Amino acid sequence: MYSLTTSSTIDKIFDLLRPSCKGMTRSQVYTDIARRLSTLASKNPPWSWRYVQGIEAMTIEPSPHIDQAIHSLLAFLTNTEPAQIYSPSETVQLQALTGTIIPGAWVLSKSLSCAHPACTINFIPRVPWQKYCPLHKRR
Ligand SMILES: [Zn+2]
Repeated sequence: MYSLTTSSTIDKIFDLLRPSCKGMTRSQVYTDIARRLSTLASKNPPWSWRYVQGIEAMTIEPSPHIDQAIHSLLAFLTNTEPAQIYSPSETVQLQALTGTIIPGAWVLSKSLSCAHPACTINFIPRVPWQKYCPLHKRR
């Protein structure tokens, strides 16, 4: 007996995670979902991405434990509105190293102006004590 409800719930989770999973393969998204579910349910060792995929494909019957975690995750995802958590916020344009920033990612620290007197570069420091852009980094 397969759980159609749980399968379609994973589909909804997939849709809700789509913005934060841009560029990921399907197995990477399943891995991300498995990690989230395992954390929510305090499951150690964590569930595998194949288990989550099997539940969605209805080839594996979900355990009551993961079934509950899947429905909890959906509830969390549909009730989370990041724009309200970090308010006020704004959309800004960034220049980033290729592949390092997921579009729409939240930047949670302030940008700085490089401390070099002749530099006009603004950057988000990697560590709190960084004062210079990579071009003027002291060696
Ligand atoms: Zn600089």
